[in-house]
Amino acid sequence: MLRRQVRAALTVAGVVGMSVLMTGQNRDRMAVADRYKWNLADIYPSDAAWRAEKERVTAGLPTLRAFEGKLGSSPQALADALEQASRLDKELSRLFVYASMLADQDTRAAGPQGMQQEMQQLYANFGAQASYIEPEVLRIGAATVETFLTAEPRLKIYTFYLRDIVRRAAHTLTDSEERILADAGPLAGSASNIYGILSNADFPYPTITLSTGRRLKVDQSGYSEIRTVANREDRRKGMSAFFTALGSFSRTFGTTMNSEVQKVSFFAKSRKYGSNLEVSLDGPHIPIGVYTRLIDGVNRSLPAFHRYLRLRKKMMGITGDLHYYDLYAPLVSSVNLTYTPEEAEKHVLAATGPLGEDYQSVVRRAFNERWIDLYPSEGKRSGAYSNGGAYDVHPYMLLNYLGQYNDVSTLAHELGHTMQSYYSNTTQPYALSNYPIFVAEVASTFNEALLIEYMLGQIKDTPTRLSLLGNYLEGLKATVFRQTQFAEFELRMHEMAEKGQPITGEALATLYLDITKRYYGHDQKICIVDDYVAHEWSYIPHFYRDFYVFQYATSFTAAEALATKVLAGDQAARQRYLAFLGAGGSQYAIDLLKDAGVDMTTDEPLDLTIARMNRVMDEMEKLLAAPPAPARRRAQGRAIP
Ligand SMILES: [Zn+2]
Repeated sequence: MLRRQVRAALTVAGVVGMSVLMTGQNRDRMAVADRYKWNLADIYPSDAAWRAEKERVTAGLPTLRAFEGKLGSSPQALADALEQASRLDKELSRLFVYASMLADQDTRAAGPQGMQQEMQQLYANFGAQASYIEPEVLRIGAATVETFLTAEPRLKIYTFYLRDIVRRAAHTLTDSEERILADAGPLAGSASNIYGILSNADFPYPTITLSTGRRLKVDQSGYSEIRTVANREDRRKGMSAFFTALGSFSRTFGTTMNSEVQKVSFFAKSRKYGSNLEVSLDGPHIPIGVYTRLIDGVNRSLPAFHRYLRLRKKMMGITGDLHYYDLYAPLVSSVNLTYTPEEAEKHVLAATGPLGEDYQSVVRRAFNERWIDLYPSEGKRSGAYSNGGAYDVHPYMLLNYLGQYNDVSTLAHELGHTMQSYYSNTTQPYALSNYPIFVAEVASTFNEALLIEYMLGQIKDTPTRLSLLGNYLEGLKATVFRQTQFAEFELRMHEMAEKGQPITGEALATLYLDITKRYYGHDQKICIVDDYVAHEWSYIPHFYRDFYVFQYATSFTAAEALATKVLAGDQAARQRYLAFLGAGGSQYAIDLLKDAGVDMTTDEPLDLTIARMNRVMDEMEKLLAAPPAPARRRAQGRAIP
């Protein structure tokens, strides 16, 4: 029930390349027209109003303590406490959203940064005040909880929350044991923190000289730039320098990684779980089979991936072997479409047509009623997100729009999040409105699928079609194949620890190279994975989030399966999908998706995704084989040669 403060979008570091065209960052916010800026006054009319509300909520926090020790006394007492906690949580969330978005508008401004910190502190206080609730519910016990649920109608909306606490009873320890585990909390972040400082701040990243004579420091951002450049030798040099440098610290990275894995094992054993995977998936109650089925299915689908790699090699015109350092270079270099915000709005609106008039009317509101902060400006936070945390207001979106196709796609993506928040917030009581992480990227990916389908219906000239189709394949490669490859590596690494095998940088490099060679068809010479790629694992921060990345892949396949059904014109499928958008967190993620029309405990979602991937490749191969048609462009944006 205690919802996360900010419903920020998931970001796939090292997957979705950051736009390198950040020239717009110099834009003065004052010069941006109001209609392209979000209107935070919908949340509070002024900072002073925010301040007054914050004082009021702060004063109310201690009231929660009044219920301590009394939750089991009557169904009414339990309902009173949960209503109070839920109300405070909702009010804090609204306060937090205002402060954090104000801070993101201009990260240099000290005032909003301070407001954000105040809210972090207040949230921590709230967490402390509310911390007795779950242990007390456990002590009440399953039988009494059920009796209470029948006796008190106000408890109905807390049914899911209460039963979820009771479900975890077998893995909850005695009070004093729980206290020891809680005290270990600050230690538990050590491995991740040390890794973060080393890789982001202290690491001696190498500098290389490019073919143009330019010197480039190959740190994380330098690396994501160099791997995409058109000059092949520069790419090779950049990747080799980056991974070789990481490899020279392999012992340190191996030690921090080992500490992380040992931490997970410690909590798994303490809480009486059978494995590291089990403890990690039990919170969101995701069956282990969903994880292992994904890995098995993707391995079975490697022939489709290898077909993609061969297609890439052909399109790039590589005559010798395709190498790992060729995988991020542009597939089609000649197409550069740009779109004004009005064109982007028109396309996104039209693309969401299959979802019906009600959906589109809310999308229109997002544009007309200033839910979106569109343009980059000096000091503004980079990237993009949707924030649905102001439950009684409406969701907001932060973008850094530069007019490329990717920006239009990002807009559609964030609108997907926004619409799920909008429908969940307007359909569910606050306590059930927050949708689980496992489904969070479904609505966004679904919208990207709608957009690409719509654009393909509009654009007939071969280079642009190839570019769009290529874009789709790149997304699929980065989200489904690469993330599953990471998920498999992660699982094997934790299994090594469970078998008592040492986790060293050397052992992890061997494991990583093995898996990568298999995925990329190294032995069949489909793509050569050079030995230094063995150290890529130490570049991925997500391994410190423990069995997290597989959700990128499952979200993608779930969205593909659902979009395929809706685009086929199945009205029942559309209704189920819209109901899913409004279902918030009223059930476990797997059940939400099952009701939406996709069963993640089967192979169907992945199989549908691979089938579409093959159809896309069929079309691309056909386009590449056909003689070039005369370029004919409709009013879908300006093509710059
Ligand atoms: Zn997202």
